[in-house]
Amino acid sequence: MASKKVQKQVKKLAKKNPTAFVTIIVILILIGVSLFIVDYYNIYDLGIIDGEFIDNDNDDDDDNIIVSGELIVAFLETGNTYTGDAVYVKAGNTDLLIDAGSRKSSSVTIKNFINQYVSDGVLEYVIATHAHQDHIAGFVGTKSDPGIFDLYDVKTIIDFPKTNATSKVYNDYVEKRTAEINNGATHYTALECYNNENGASRVINLTEDVTLEILYNYYYENKTSNENNYSVCVMITHGNKKFLLTGDLEDEGEKKLVEYNDLSKVDVYKAGHHGSYTAGSNELLSVIDPDIVCICCCAGHDEYTDNPLNMFPAQDFISRICKYTDQIYVTTLATETGFESMNGNIIITSNTTGIEVNCSNNNTILKETDWFKKNRKWE
Ligand SMILES: [Zn+2]
Repeated sequence: MASKKVQKQVKKLAKKNPTAFVTIIVILILIGVSLFIVDYYNIYDLGIIDGEFIDNDNDDDDDNIIVSGELIVAFLETGNTYTGDAVYVKAGNTDLLIDAGSRKSSSVTIKNFINQYVSDGVLEYVIATHAHQDHIAGFVGTKSDPGIFDLYDVKTIIDFPKTNATSKVYNDYVEKRTAEINNGATHYTALECYNNENGASRVINLTEDVTLEILYNYYYENKTSNENNYSVCVMITHGNKKFLLTGDLEDEGEKKLVEYNDLSKVDVYKAGHHGSYTAGSNELLSVIDPDIVCICCCAGHDEYTDNPLNMFPAQDFISRICKYTDQIYVTTLATETGFESMNGNIIITSNTTGIEVNCSNNNTILKETDWFKKNRKWE
């Protein structure tokens, strides 16, 4: 009934005043098209969620994910000529430290950096990727240089489920970890996290916008003679920005990582095993296609090898990674008398406008450095 009445009115108007009729139709079409565009780009959401579009990765997928807040991931120098890892992550009021290498006294260098950000003496999360000295020594510390477990009130410790280690530094780590647990810290293995067992979670919300996901490593529950392959592997995500950290995982572990996890493009990749020729395999790189690569090492140091081409970062690693990006940064450089900063602390900030790299010494990419020009080839 009603629609018949409307039809009659419309016909009447069209006959009586054709110009007004056409104008109304055009206006209705314009309103319809605008509503479609608004809906398509989710512009409504901007009013509801406090954030902005991120669109700086120059591709056309996932660009309308909305994020707010800020994520800082800092790849730290460890204060000596030895290679090691220490990665500090700040998301809102949540502080996370992944590894504390390379020597026991690294705790001092790490403390001096992270105390710029940590004001309450609390680390909400600590991850120890595997049982090697260059990753766990700083958790232990010395009498004169207290370790991370002595310096901070750690809330949650996540570490490697398996190890073959019998070293003193490993036993010291276990002792300090036990003391921290007795002081109230919660301890989970990466496998408990992955399995969501015993109160642990595979995906941890560091803030509303930042997640820490414990990836599956086959060697969380299978034995290997290569300690590096026991490494805890994680993905940190802020909106559509992804940071992949695989500890010292090597080729074999990387192949399993690709096989068992649904990996895809990442924005930032911490070079596997300090940029060793045994890590950063084509199998992994072709899947993660990284934009920015951070290498935690003392470039050109002969700590592990006499072959100059295999010193970190190794020529083979560079020959593989160069197909994906030249945005490669290195923390430290070996000198005749010791060490100096290469890029220094590599500080990566992800916020509503995208990703920014700011290093404490300089922002020169690896292939433009004097060390690279003298010692490596870009091929
Ligand atoms: Zn290492």
